[in-house]
Amino acid sequence: MEKKKARELILTHGTNSPLEIATERKIVVLFEHLGKQTWGYYSNTNRLPVIHINNRLSREQAIYTSAHELGHAILHPGINTPFLRSNTFYSVDKLERQAHRLAVHLLIGFNAPEQGETKQQFLLRCGIPEIFHIFY
Ligand SMILES: [Zn+2]
Repeated sequence: MEKKKARELILTHGTNSPLEIATERKIVVLFEHLGKQTWGYYSNTNRLPVIHINNRLSREQAIYTSAHELGHAILHPGINTPFLRSNTFYSVDKLERQAHRLAVHLLIGFNAPEQGETKQQFLLRCGIPEIFHIFY
């Protein structure tokens, strides 16, 4: 279900860049000081959807986080979702798993593993940090 949704997003917006898709959908993306534990979160206050990203993340981490929070904005638009923290990466929470799966499939897009490429190599090539490969 998240895979289908991710592919629809890519076709609609002509890109799999979460930042470009967020901009086109009028979702505000803020890079902020969020401390050491929090990677990002999604908020919807007074119907203003905002993706918050920790400004100290690496480029790969920031893109994954924006894809995850975009997942919330698409799948759970009216909900203020919990902080994506280092200790909640493996969360069994349904909303979290859905956002992770959408993020993984958005970043994969229409890419496919090349011959001889392992699943791990393939997902890294798509920009997905190793800790999130479990959501593939
Ligand atoms: Zn989340």
